[in-house]
This record gives sequence, C-alpha cells and structure tokens, in this order.
Amino acid sequence: MTSREFKSVKDALLWAASYLQKKGVENSRLEAEVLFSKVLEVDRGKLLASLKDPLGEEQLERFKFFVAERIRGYPLQYITHEQEFMSLNFYVEEGVFIPRGDTEVLVEAVMSLEKKFEKILDVGTGSGIIAVTLAKIFPESRITALDVSEKALENASLNAEKHGVRDRIIFIKGDIFFWQPKEFFDLVVSNPPYIPSGDILKLQKEISFEPIKALDGGPDGLKFYYRLAELCSACLHPGGVLAVEIGWNQAREVRKIFYDAGIFENEIKVLKDYGGRDRVVICRRKL
Ligand code: SAM
Ligand code: GLN
Repeated sequence: MTSREFKSVKDALLWAASYLQKKGVENSRLEAEVLFSKVLEVDRGKLLASLKDPLGEEQLERFKFFVAERIRGYPLQYITHEQEFMSLNFYVEEGVFIPRGDTEVLVEAVMSLEKKFEKILDVGTGSGIIAVTLAKIFPESRITALDVSEKALENASLNAEKHGVRDRIIFIKGDIFFWQPKEFFDLVVSNPPYIPSGDILKLQKEISFEPIKALDGGPDGLKFYYRLAELCSACLHPGGVLAVEIGWNQAREVRKIFYDAGIFENEIKVLKDYGGRDRVVICRRKL
C-alpha cells in the first residue's frame, strides 16, 4: 500500500481503524487517531483538524509500522510513551511497567486518610506514578522511591522532573528482599508484583511485552506482602500507614498476612476498584 492509495489523513485513519478492529484491537478508531497523532507529533485535536490533508510517504510508512506493532500486541503506551494517571501525563518506556487505572484507587485511598504525610516510602516505584502523585498531593512530603530496575528508576526520575517534584524524591536502586531501611516513614505504599508465577503466561498478549519482574509475585503471588509487613516492623512509625494494591482475589490472604505480622491495628480495610473488585488493603501500625 502506498500513500497514493490514500487521498488524505482521513482515508488512512479509516483503513487503520477497520484493520485494527478486524484484528481484535478494542477502541480501534481512537487508537488509530492516537497512533497518527504520534506520527505527526501533534495532539488529537490538531489531527482531527487536518483530516483532509494529503499524506507523505514517510508518514504513511511510520503509521503502518505502528499499526502492525499494535496488531502483534505491542502496547500502545510503549509507542506513544504516554499514560495518564490521576489527571497527570506520565512518560513510560519499554522495560517499565505501564501504569494502570486501578492504582488510582490506592492513591485516592491514601489521600482520603490524612491531610499530610511527611515521610513516605514507595516500594517498586516503576514509572514513579505513586511517588510523583503523592509528592504533588502532599507538598511537604519527602519520598523515598525504591526499585530493583535501573530502567524504572530512570523513567521515574524523568517523571519527577516533568512534574516539578524531583527535589523531594530520593530514588534508590535496591531489592526489597535485601534492602535495609535506615530511617522511619509515616506511610509505606506499594503496588508490588502480585501475579502468581504460573498465571503470567495466561495473561493478555499485551502484558507479555512488560517486564516479568514487575508482575511476578512468586508461586502464590503473595511473597511481596510478607516482605512488606516485615519491612514495616523495621521502618514504619507507630501510627503510620501501610497501603498496598492487591489482585482481585487476594484480600483474604493479604489481610491475614498483615494480621499475623502482629504490628498492625485489627481493623485492616479492603477497598474496591471501579469494577467492584477488591483492589487495596490498608492498615495502621499500633501505637
Ligand atoms: N508503582 C508502579 C505502578 O504502580 O505503576 C509500578 C508497579 S509494578 C507492578 C512493580 C514494580 O516493582 C516494578 O517496577 C518492579 O521493577 C519492582 N520490583 C520487582 N521486584 C522488586 C524487588 N525485589 N525489589 C524492589 N522492587 C521490585
Ligand atoms: N494489575 C496488573 C495486571 O494484572 C498486575 C499488577 C501487579 O502485579 N502489581 O495487569
């Protein structure tokens, strides 16, 4: 197919939308528009204003490449390098976990608890969405953001810079199973890997392009919750809060892990996501 076969941007969009749809990509019209906006490096509004414009050969080649990438399941966010979270625009690149809407429930739950948290630890910061949004919500906070992945830390640092909070976040490369905290925090927050190892290959094909280390929660998906509870006994202030994201079917087990740790108040709350599934567990360290 050459650009002569498409008289305008609109023709190319219509072709891509129907091709993507045929291959099972949801929201195919929107995706086609987002991909073409990326080719032209303009926003969607501008793209829609140029529907009648003719196409360049090079632009069409790039567009067709993006469409083919989507069809093999390569995530849209790794092409556009963008994902919105809590109404902020975040940069994300291949090798780093793509932020999910469900994680907004975690941030909103923390926001609703207290007017301020001063010292916050974000375990497994990924692209930095939790650390950056909390830094903006709590302007007096100082945040430590930990991740094993160098790439994630670079990505998160870019996002902190982009949103003007780089000076209040310390990024640390470390493995939660070995890292020894040297200070105490008022809030420990985490969206850890929580998919049981054996279930990872059963997930949607898009997910296979994301780093497995960001998803794999060990044989039962729970190993990070045991470690987080242990870590809290070493670094969470009495009265401080532990807030975590969980898989939809893990509430009972995670509550039990936190209960058995013996350091948290008995009221361990479970909150639901917008789909009505259990998504967040929150508890407070005993005074
Ligand atoms: N917080 C981000 C978010 O909500 O989008 C990323 C969450 S992702 C599910 C989990 C993150 O934990 C990944 O960035 C991964 O690199 C990191 N991680 C995995 N194993 C880790 C470990 N042993 N120690 C520290 N971080 C780890
Ligand atoms: N919510 C992610 C998914 O199922 C998993 C995230 C995680 O392991 N923290 O796509």
